[in-house]
Amino acid sequence: MARYSGIGGKSPRITGPLMRFVRISLALVFAALAAASSSAGNKPDRRSYTAAVTPGAKALIEDRLVALDARLAGDDQRTRFILDLNRKVELAAFTLIDPYRVIVDLPEVAFDLPAAAGRKGQGLVSAYRYGLFAPGRARIVLDATGPVAIDKAFVLEGLEDQPARLVVDLVKTDREAFIKNAAIEKRTESIASPAPSARKTDRETPAASDGLPVIVIDPGHGGLDSGAIAPSGEEEKAIALAVALRLREKLEHTGRFRVVLTRSDDTFVPLAERVRVARSNQAALMISIHADSISRNEGEARGASIYTVSNKASDKEAARLAEKENKADLIAGIDLSGQNDDVVGILYDLTHRETKNFSGQFARTLAAEIKSAALLNRDTLRSAGFIVLKAPDVPSVLLELGFLSNPEDVKMLASEAWRDQVADAMTGAVQSFFATRVAAGGNR
Ligand SMILES: [Zn+2]
Repeated sequence: MARYSGIGGKSPRITGPLMRFVRISLALVFAALAAASSSAGNKPDRRSYTAAVTPGAKALIEDRLVALDARLAGDDQRTRFILDLNRKVELAAFTLIDPYRVIVDLPEVAFDLPAAAGRKGQGLVSAYRYGLFAPGRARIVLDATGPVAIDKAFVLEGLEDQPARLVVDLVKTDREAFIKNAAIEKRTESIASPAPSARKTDRETPAASDGLPVIVIDPGHGGLDSGAIAPSGEEEKAIALAVALRLREKLEHTGRFRVVLTRSDDTFVPLAERVRVARSNQAALMISIHADSISRNEGEARGASIYTVSNKASDKEAARLAEKENKADLIAGIDLSGQNDDVVGILYDLTHRETKNFSGQFARTLAAEIKSAALLNRDTLRSAGFIVLKAPDVPSVLLELGFLSNPEDVKMLASEAWRDQVADAMTGAVQSFFATRVAAGGNR
């Protein structure tokens, strides 16, 4: 512990986190005053009051657990991760291999951290992510630069002038020791926390008796998996969700479909769970919504693309994309070491030819709709081994709305008008797809 005197709990820090704490306390006082004047019959400007309360202050009012600040300290032999919290909490910490990761599981936390938190590493940590992992459970994933061991993991009680502090100390180790530790931690962890897929959510809707075809809309990523991030900060997970919610509204408005979302808020959902939602709802169609990003030296790619599943990728770019999208579970800190290559547990070779034909047909319909609405800069139909599209009995496509690496695309993806237009085009595609199927005697 002495080693950490410069960065640990004993040093009197009155900078960043404390200032945030003070700011939130002030916001609380303000909120209390606003509430008091409201109950006294006055009419305060509620709009400006609402805007002044940060998510952290709001959570404090509701007695929720709030993360106020996070930082890394140390070097490539020992590294400390510190998270300031509004109160003490129980934690579980363990490691995962390939790639090397350290997972910290917490009860539900409102993360009121600076936007750039976790993007830059230090010492043994190259980056970290945080967010809701499952209802009632938050998770932090630290990407390690190599094999590390958790030397200590604990939470210090908050003092009068200091927030509670979660501390994880990592030390450098070798691969062999890492594997040994991970095996021990795994046994402890599996007792401590249920698998995320074991939870009950609103996705568990019973089969409808209305006979309407079920459309599953799958907004990519979520929770601690942000997906692609634009240089200006826009996140793929938020764009995908916004378009998905709009599409749901429009599809429901037609009165011709029943719509199920794999997620309707900022929660992480494992890939296999998304496939399970489509299958258990006997979906007639699944649409997975994403936005791509490529590094600068790969050219100025932009525009939407539509993908279907195949064992062999149609081209190099499709293979790259599928590999990236299939990493979502790794990014969220799910242990895949016990699973075989096919996460969903389905041999895609057994897929009904019918499903494949319908997927291709819908992909072409969607491309035509999007193109005629002048929303598509290229109408490429590609295919690759996307896990999320592997339900053998559900026709499915993955739509990449555009590129977050392209400033023009970002402007478009962030625009309410564009989102509305693309949801309209998708609704049109779904309608003409089912009209064709009914005309051809399709029964689903
Ligand atoms: Zn994605």
